[in-house]
Amino acid sequence: MLKYDLLVVGAGISGLSSAYHIKTDNPDLNICIVDKWGTYAQGNTAKSDAAFRDVFTSETNYKLASSSISFYKDVQSKGFDLGMHFNGYLFLMDEVNLNSETVHKLYQKVQSRIISREEISELGIRTEPDLEAAKIMSLKNIDGGLVGENCGIMEPDLLASYYVKELEKMGIEFRYNTKVNALNISPRSKLNFPGEPFIWQDKIVESVNTNRGEIYADQFLLATDVWTSELLSPIGMDAFTHPKKVQVFQVQSEGISKMMQHKVTGEEDIFPFTILPSPAIDMRPDPKSKSFWVSYSDGVGKGFPLEENPGADPDYYSNNLYTVLREYVPAFSESRMVASWAGFYSMNNMDGTYVLDRKMNLSVINGSSGSGIMKADAAGRLASALYSSKRSARLYGGSEISVDDLGISRRKVDQETLII
Ligand SMILES: Cc1cc2nc3c(=O)[nH]c(=O)nc-3n(C[C@H](O)[C@H](O)[C@H](O)COP(=O)(O)OP(=O)(O)OC[C@H]3O[C@@H](n4cnc5c(N)ncnc54)[C@H](O)[C@@H]3O)c2cc1C
Repeated sequence: MLKYDLLVVGAGISGLSSAYHIKTDNPDLNICIVDKWGTYAQGNTAKSDAAFRDVFTSETNYKLASSSISFYKDVQSKGFDLGMHFNGYLFLMDEVNLNSETVHKLYQKVQSRIISREEISELGIRTEPDLEAAKIMSLKNIDGGLVGENCGIMEPDLLASYYVKELEKMGIEFRYNTKVNALNISPRSKLNFPGEPFIWQDKIVESVNTNRGEIYADQFLLATDVWTSELLSPIGMDAFTHPKKVQVFQVQSEGISKMMQHKVTGEEDIFPFTILPSPAIDMRPDPKSKSFWVSYSDGVGKGFPLEENPGADPDYYSNNLYTVLREYVPAFSESRMVASWAGFYSMNNMDGTYVLDRKMNLSVINGSSGSGIMKADAAGRLASALYSSKRSARLYGGSEISVDDLGISRRKVDQETLII
């Protein structure tokens, strides 16, 4: 019989970071991580832009992201390359947003600077789109930008491999190609009567059914992202999230290649991760291939059923993203799309950040809402505190965060006003 102290389901960045912090805090635990795919980080972690920022108005988001960024920076400075570049996060804005209270407060709170229209033009971005196009597509002028300087891009597979190497050193077992099909609920104290568990019996998850047999554990942690409700619904628990498909298109041209050489912050000549004013299309530089990965997070109006292997639709790119991009960035006019892929955000639409929940001996970490890479280290520390029934987690750098704040019943996350 396979039995562990803790079974973690999901070897994406959330499961890896959680297992790492739980094992660090409880070295004697016998932990196993299972994943339905053949190796780690093949789910939404593999699809990620992996941009990071500490530019958040919500104090919770700020703490989760800034502490994780500091941790990753430290890992990289000790010699484990995470592909981190501090090339900045550039929010392009019209005059109204630029002069808003939100931007004023952010400017004072985070390491950032305001850049002018002239500097934006030098980057190869047109600040005044063609009048007719602007009218048809409701495009805004760009009057300036806020650049977050403690921000940039990293490689999600390198971050995942860092945690995996550490987990292997600590003796954690991995079981791949192992799909959990169901959670088996049992009474804590069995009477062995038919029909158990009865309503008056204390219940636990006793084991999970997988395609490779049953696995038992004292505690379970689901880090299954958009697939969480498949496991929770049958046992009457809610995932409080829903999947949102995001498509990414890799685009190249001679002009784009030249744009890559610009820098607005940091020590390297790498174009910043850039967000257009409206619609808020993001352009993620890929310095290795000298291309942009472009994507957009759809709002209300588009439903996306969960797919096991989502693909990107080229027409979505040409009819939506390209028409806007070529107005703002002339280098897109002659460009070609060389690759595309898609993944899902596990969206918590209440406040757009992680949700941690615990019932019986089952903990759940879910709802990374499109920012799971930049917050994963802090989320793992919270998962460890949740596992040990601690009230708060100490994040990297020393700040504290209450576990209840990210929970369901006493959730306290201040609203993020800088939503992209
Ligand atoms: C297009 C795109 C762009 C993004 N850009 C950014 C960005 O710029 N910055 C950022 O911080 N974040 C970004 N994100 C979000 C980030 O990638 C996610 O928040 C993060 O990867 C979620 O990690 P996870 O471990 O929770 O989920 P996943 O990586 O999806 O891992 C969940 C794992 O659970 C496993 N699993 C699920 N069900 C079962 C089961 N029944 N049995 C066994 N295994 C199971 C899956 O196989 C999977 O490996 C982006 C996401 C997408 C899709």
